[in-house]
Amino acid sequence: MIFLLTVIQLSACNHIPGSSQKEVKSMEIPDFSSDSAYQYTQKQVDFGARVPNTPAHEACAAYLSAELKRHGAVVIEQKADLTAFDGTVLRSTNIIGSFNSAAQSRVLLFSHWDSRPWADHDPDPAKRKQPVMAANDGASGVAVLLEMARLIGKNEPFVGVDIIFFDSEDYGAPESFKSQNSEDSWCLGTQYWAKNPHVKGYTARFGILLDMVGGKQATFFKEQASEYYAANVVNNVWSQAKSLGFSQNFVDQKGGAITDDHIYVNQLLGIPSIDIIQYDPNSTSGFGFYWHTTQDVMANVDKSTLKAVGTTLMHVVYNEK
Ligand SMILES: [Zn+2]
Repeated sequence: MIFLLTVIQLSACNHIPGSSQKEVKSMEIPDFSSDSAYQYTQKQVDFGARVPNTPAHEACAAYLSAELKRHGAVVIEQKADLTAFDGTVLRSTNIIGSFNSAAQSRVLLFSHWDSRPWADHDPDPAKRKQPVMAANDGASGVAVLLEMARLIGKNEPFVGVDIIFFDSEDYGAPESFKSQNSEDSWCLGTQYWAKNPHVKGYTARFGILLDMVGGKQATFFKEQASEYYAANVVNNVWSQAKSLGFSQNFVDQKGGAITDDHIYVNQLLGIPSIDIIQYDPNSTSGFGFYWHTTQDVMANVDKSTLKAVGTTLMHVVYNEK
């Protein structure tokens, strides 16, 4: 994924997320298990790289869908043939799991589940045509959301929750391939869903995207497009993280501006959405050193980061009244 935005297109939307005025009792917030989230990461990696049009991809889709159903979600598999920058047709599946479908007030949580087909940032040129295992860049976000699904299924929050695993996010044009539209070559599954939502007129109070949320000592800065479209959501998440003691992960500073799945949800559906994404100001890419390399493997995934992100999100969702 991920190009720096030179211009954030202004299509202002002023939905204000947050609680309504209703008086409701408080609710016990279930404990997020980082062991479980780690196992969910491992399980996806065990399929191999989840590159579209491969058996590993197909098998993992079936697993993700079954797992959401097992936890009580109503699941829709949204299938689409999406055309990549190089003309390859990607047989794609967005996997949507809804809890408390009847609730009007909803929260949207999302992550991409596909693996990048080429490790084009690998330091070793001989490895740049190999796929990325995507333990962090793919599996970690999905794993946090699967663990949340497990808990939500047992004890639902006040709001309805939609969890979406988007496909074909990471098939974007490599830097060697230059074209006018290369920025829109990323996030294909999200672009498709935002133009064809699973429910007509779909909306949510707000959306949260998780991308690369399992790295060792990962830091999440306030991403600029998130602040532009959904400053209230950013502030809510960062302040709940702080009160839970996770300020080392959730850094109270401005990060980069990143083209990622949340952009299309903001621009096409007007749902104020943020991106919780690893940002390392000291690395050349801005992400972990293993980003889009063959080193994006389980050895770089850390339970304490999964815990910080999952616990924070559980509080954000269960504190919505
Ligand atoms: Zn990626």
